[in-house]
Amino acid sequence: MSSKRKITVAYGDGIGPEIMKATLNILEAAGAQLEYDVIEIGEQVYLKGISSGMEPKAFDSLRETKVFLKSPITTPQGGGFKSLNVTTRKSFGLFANVRPCKAYSPFVKTHFPKTDMVIIRENEEDLYAGIEHRQTQEVYQCLKLISQPGSEKIIRYAFEYAKKYGRKKVTCMTKDNIMKLADGLFHKTFNEIAKEYPDIETDHKIIDIGSALIAERPEIFDVIVTLNLYGDIISDIAAQVTGSVGLGGSANVGEEVAMFEAIHGSAPDIAGQDMANPSGLLNGAVMMLVHIGQPEIAEKVGNAWMKTLEDGIHTGDIYQEGISSKKVGTQEFAQAVIERLGQKPVNMTPAIFDKSAKDPISIKLSPVTKSEKKLIGVDVFIDWDKDGRDPNSIGDALRKADADGLVLQLITNRGIKVYPGGMKETFCTDHWRCRFQKADQSLVSHAQVLDLMDQIAKLSFDFIKTENLYSFDGVRAYSLAQGE
Ligand code: NAD
Repeated sequence: MSSKRKITVAYGDGIGPEIMKATLNILEAAGAQLEYDVIEIGEQVYLKGISSGMEPKAFDSLRETKVFLKSPITTPQGGGFKSLNVTTRKSFGLFANVRPCKAYSPFVKTHFPKTDMVIIRENEEDLYAGIEHRQTQEVYQCLKLISQPGSEKIIRYAFEYAKKYGRKKVTCMTKDNIMKLADGLFHKTFNEIAKEYPDIETDHKIIDIGSALIAERPEIFDVIVTLNLYGDIISDIAAQVTGSVGLGGSANVGEEVAMFEAIHGSAPDIAGQDMANPSGLLNGAVMMLVHIGQPEIAEKVGNAWMKTLEDGIHTGDIYQEGISSKKVGTQEFAQAVIERLGQKPVNMTPAIFDKSAKDPISIKLSPVTKSEKKLIGVDVFIDWDKDGRDPNSIGDALRKADADGLVLQLITNRGIKVYPGGMKETFCTDHWRCRFQKADQSLVSHAQVLDLMDQIAKLSFDFIKTENLYSFDGVRAYSLAQGE
């Protein structure tokens, strides 16, 4: 029986075929135990009218091999085409985006030569659920959804990654000083899970100062775990400041399937000219080798690649007079790496991967303990643009609605309390959040909420939506109004 690991390979578009050929040649010479199921993706598939850029048989291949080494693709201009990466990520539940950002100074210019961090970004939740609504003439909404299992999964992955790759510290980044419930859940989950990894140092940074520090002192970070939107932004900042955009690889990892690629695109401007640097895809392939339990080969390839950089054998994109010794094309660069297999870098820190961890990182979620959920009120959102938008006018009118003591307590406009006792200077849009509770915040029934809505409709108000107010185990599970 063959001990080779079957993987799905896509040569992609533009420079894709050249850099894939170079990468696979290096992997083969290094002794990687691989066999390939080659699939077609990208431009040609889009142009056949398949909007995902991937044929059904490509999905079958991924389902079978569970590992995807992918070259960049060209997304055709114009509408109707879906991002292949988003489709793959959503279809296969690739919840973790992993992007190492390392400086390779002086071979790649950077102000931060000591940088060596890995950003682990949650990939499925947050504002990227794409749940958006226009609610009034003036106001649009995008829902930010953060789940406990989603947070636990990515945070556990970050700690397991740190363990597997010998990293010392994990930093969590959120904005929980403002989003106390959603981002607060992520931070709280991080603190809980951190207790299970006493050997790993932990830290939390508010995302704004965290981003500023990545731009100013990236060397202080090791592994960073964060929510989807923040991760999207900081992984680009980090790649940019370390200079690793051209050389970086990345992984999208799920419970079953994982996809490995370069950060960069298909570079149509230099396609077919044997000029492209294959390093980004090669670094993605090194991550893949660790993932599938071939860490020895990953180390061999990673070290030979760094030695090649140190020897000044460079493709045109990183060639610098005085530092580089030879300008080479894609395939000659690959050959130079192959000649250095077995060697280690002298100036840069050699790659070392845990040889005992042969299986991909697998995550077990904690059992869920259910809390007692009680309905204690309702926020009714109303589209209203009358009486010069005077909060007292809408407030006094809504006070007439009373469903067994479920009455108006306050109104906010864009989160700021405007009734009762608002400030006349507060700017008001046509979007009003009206909070109804009983005076003693006691239990409310669905029937009372329906009665309330009926009364609000009869008062001729245009309600947009309702949001129930709950307590869980007696703890308030909604935010207070600003100014409340
Ligand atoms: P790009 O990354 O392809 O190119 C930007 C610049 O960097 C170009 O000047 C290019 O020549 C250079 N470059 C990129 N990779 C290089 C390499 N390996 N060696 C040397 N030089 C390299 O970005 P773009 O031009 O904005 O996008 C081109 C196409 O790639 C678009 O169709 C875009 O949608 C697609 N794209 C695909 C992916 C992906 O498949 N993951 C990612 C980003 C962009």
